Amino acid sequence: MTRPLIQNVLAAQPPEVVRAEGVWLWDAEGNRYLDGCSGAVVSAIGHSHPHVVRAIAAQAARVTYAHRGAFTNAAAEEVAARLCELTGFAGAWLVGSGSEAVEAAMQFALQYHQERGESERTVFLSARKGYHGNTLGALSASGHARRAAVSGIALEIPALPTGDALRDHGDRTEEEYAQAMLDEARAVIAAQEDRLAAVLIEPVGGATLGASTHPAGYLAGLTELCREAGALFIADEVLSGMGRTGTVLACEQESVAPDIVAMGKGLGSGYAPVAATLVSQKVLTAIAEGTGVVLGGHTYAGNPLTAATALAVLEVLAEENVIERGREAAVMVRDALEALAREHPLILEVRGRGMLLALELDAEGRAQGDAVREFASICMKHGLILYPATGGFVDAVIVSPPLTITSVEIAQLVQMLGSALIELAG
Ligand code: PMP
Repeated sequence: MTRPLIQNVLAAQPPEVVRAEGVWLWDAEGNRYLDGCSGAVVSAIGHSHPHVVRAIAAQAARVTYAHRGAFTNAAAEEVAARLCELTGFAGAWLVGSGSEAVEAAMQFALQYHQERGESERTVFLSARKGYHGNTLGALSASGHARRAAVSGIALEIPALPTGDALRDHGDRTEEEYAQAMLDEARAVIAAQEDRLAAVLIEPVGGATLGASTHPAGYLAGLTELCREAGALFIADEVLSGMGRTGTVLACEQESVAPDIVAMGKGLGSGYAPVAATLVSQKVLTAIAEGTGVVLGGHTYAGNPLTAATALAVLEVLAEENVIERGREAAVMVRDALEALAREHPLILEVRGRGMLLALELDAEGRAQGDAVREFASICMKHGLILYPATGGFVDAVIVSPPLTITSVEIAQLVQMLGSALIELAG
């Protein structure tokens, strides 16, 4: 018999979630799970934080929705101001999901060029193995396996190289490897001549590449290639942003200054669907002084309830030093994963940055994705949720607990992971 909820068509009967607190989730049978991946790398500050819960209730009692065409609201203004202060960007546009933030980023880039009389600049180049979301624009810019279904109408071109899993530099240094990638990128960009609107890239590969970093210097070099080509550089920090990799934006760690940034996930931290597109002064000026048409509108953009939720999350991040604590906790998690890798030959690689980590598993010749899906379900039996990266390129599970995880909870995570590895090895 078919069940009415369509996403369950693909999964075996999943347990019903009924409660969550901190890094823990409970199902209807009373089983407890450690959220070792923050859902889909979302819950930066953990579940059911009392400050956020109170803020949601208070805002819901005042006003939940008023369209931004008629009203602004204090929470949305404050979220935008705080995001700009945290990142040095000039403007923030609030939306409801990472995909919408990417979509808005692409639209702002098109608008920027149109305002400058460069309407031929309509092409977006993205990475061959990236993921940017599930709306058509974002998905067609993605290298995700799902893209095949939309490639007939896809507008964007995922043709740029990315830092790979299990990277083999051969006898080259990391610098030479980055240079080879840049040479390839230069040729791909040059082929677009004056049609290139922007390059869109994840600073750390997430959903499709399982926490793969780029070789040092690649992102900075790519930014430079964009400038030379008269195109914009868009960083998709939906997954890597909001402190996940140890700084507010992952780009900061490479001294890369994008023209536009998409943020999501950790901004709402699981409490509300909220995301944001940040623009630099030059993009903001072009849009603000332009024709007056602002692209990227969505019904729920910047509504009082989700804005108040994001504001409460930002307050917790600041008042509880969450990013700094996450940076310290991440070192413990990484050390523990590396110790596990020394004991378990099924782990081929521990990689990532900050609290965006992944284990590449030996798939032992099985179809891509099968081993990690099996491993994630074994982990779940042991009470640990991990996120399988299933874009079609790696055999990795993402380990990305809330940044607020304690050392006791890290020990519990590692113990469950160890038991699951023993079971996987059979
Ligand atoms: N960009 C990146 C880098 C992502 O990882 C994701 C989600 N996995 C998205 C965009 C899309 O975000 P959402 O699912 O909230 O639309």
